[in-house]
Amino acid sequence: MTNHAVVIAGGGPTGLMLAAELALAKIDVAIVERRASQELAGSRAGGLHARTLEVLDQRGVADRFLTQGKIMQVAGFAMIRLDISDFPTRHNYGLALWQKRIEELLADWVRELAVPIYRSRDVTGFTQDAAGVEVELSEGGSLRAQYLVGCDGGRSLVRKQAGIDFPGADASVSYLIAEAEMTGEPEGAVRRGDKGINALGRIDDGKRVRAVLIEQHVKQGDEPTLDDLREALIAVYGSDYGVRNVTWLSRFTDTTRQAASYRSGRVLVAGDAAHIHAPTGGQGLNVGVQDAVNLGWKLAQVVRGTSPETLLDSYHAERHPVGARVLRNTMAQTALMRGDDRSRAAHESMSELLKLDEPRKRYAAMISGLDIQYDLGPGHPLLGRRMPDLELVTDGGPRRVFALLHAARPVLLNLGEPSALDIAPWAERVRWVNARYEGAWELPVLGAVAAPAAVLIRPDGHVAWVGAGTDEGLSDALQRWFGAP
Ligand SMILES: Cc1cc2nc3c(=O)[nH]c(=O)nc-3n(C[C@H](O)[C@H](O)[C@H](O)COP(=O)(O)OP(=O)(O)OC[C@H]3O[C@@H](n4cnc5c(N)ncnc54)[C@H](O)[C@@H]3O)c2cc1C
Repeated sequence: MTNHAVVIAGGGPTGLMLAAELALAKIDVAIVERRASQELAGSRAGGLHARTLEVLDQRGVADRFLTQGKIMQVAGFAMIRLDISDFPTRHNYGLALWQKRIEELLADWVRELAVPIYRSRDVTGFTQDAAGVEVELSEGGSLRAQYLVGCDGGRSLVRKQAGIDFPGADASVSYLIAEAEMTGEPEGAVRRGDKGINALGRIDDGKRVRAVLIEQHVKQGDEPTLDDLREALIAVYGSDYGVRNVTWLSRFTDTTRQAASYRSGRVLVAGDAAHIHAPTGGQGLNVGVQDAVNLGWKLAQVVRGTSPETLLDSYHAERHPVGARVLRNTMAQTALMRGDDRSRAAHESMSELLKLDEPRKRYAAMISGLDIQYDLGPGHPLLGRRMPDLELVTDGGPRRVFALLHAARPVLLNLGEPSALDIAPWAERVRWVNARYEGAWELPVLGAVAAPAAVLIRPDGHVAWVGAGTDEGLSDALQRWFGAP
């Protein structure tokens, strides 16, 4: 039996990001992935929101994605466009890039970090004991790990076998999504139906059409037929446009569910394994990647023995509310996109509201993930929020804050007197940086905030402590987040 410190079930976007985070922390991690290659049948997610670009930037890999996609305003609520170009972030936009390519780029990075991927194999079960988890694989054999993380998608076997409840709402609508050749599809092919919006549009190669169609009756299951597709086309557009050469046909619904707990002993869940919802607003992949960035450094410290196991509970405490908020906003978007008169009136009212600056900023920050604040208690507005990517002047020259986070290690950024703070007992774990910063401190939605004298930044880029010229609370924060000295 082969041992790894951590085994990740599933090498989709969440599993790949988590593997990279653990590898950067020098943890022995492996992925078990059902697919023989990173090849993805359809397009799925269409891009990245601003906070995901920021977390990739924090690791020094954002450019790999930016150079492959199209920078544009992608945030929206119930298809009402939300512009974030006035937001105080380097990435005041999103990126249009298909999930296929996103996964390939993540997989390339994970390969460079030398993470083994056991391909063409399923995790078929596991048993956990006091010291670890034995992970069973299809084709026989097993792996032994200290922790198992289920990043195995919405139907997660890991979540089910761990006995984690998945409460929520059943589907109110099912969609077919297809890529195929068609003849003479209509101009202006967006049609509002009773339950939402149907659309047909030519894709990149100019030959094929992508169709997103509401089914007359809610259906479940991953394997719709060509007849289902024809039937839906005729119901919405009155013709099947001679649909042929279908290269992708799938079904998605607005089923909305969330894992009651993100952890059961030595087993954790992240990404779609922890939450599923309608794709409206394009948040699922983004939230999964950000789950991984919250969990990675914590799991690394627990495996290394520098932090107690209880640190892992902060993963659920912090990320469950973020997921719950996404579930709520996608349900609201689904309701607003229905075609009946009352829903249309609600949509028009919401459109009016979102033209106003304050509501636009709030909703845009929510959808793009820039407003997340983990509850670390009362204090400076930065506490628990993402650290902005400031242009600093350090002893070693000009540096961006995000460049200091490339190694996924915590940073104590001292912006006041060089000798005012003492982190000596944590010197091996926390990087100390003296810096000067003359510019404004601005946060999305909140605007200008008071300049701190020092900040303790976690590897995920969230602020764990804010100094006001003394070291009050610093050793507590260091101990809480990075373990006893
Ligand atoms: C039509 C559509 C449009 C979408 N648009 C967007 C969008 O614009 N923006 C956005 O952010 N999100 C979007 N999403 C959601 C996004 O695709 C998912 O949220 C995202 O793929 C979740 O990533 P994941 O890694 O958590 O799970 P998945 O991508 O589902 O990956 C799970 C992986 O686990 C593997 N696996 C499963 N079971 C096992 C097992 N037992 N053993 C081993 N391997 C296993 C699978 O092969 C897969 O590779 C969309 C989804 C759909 C369907």
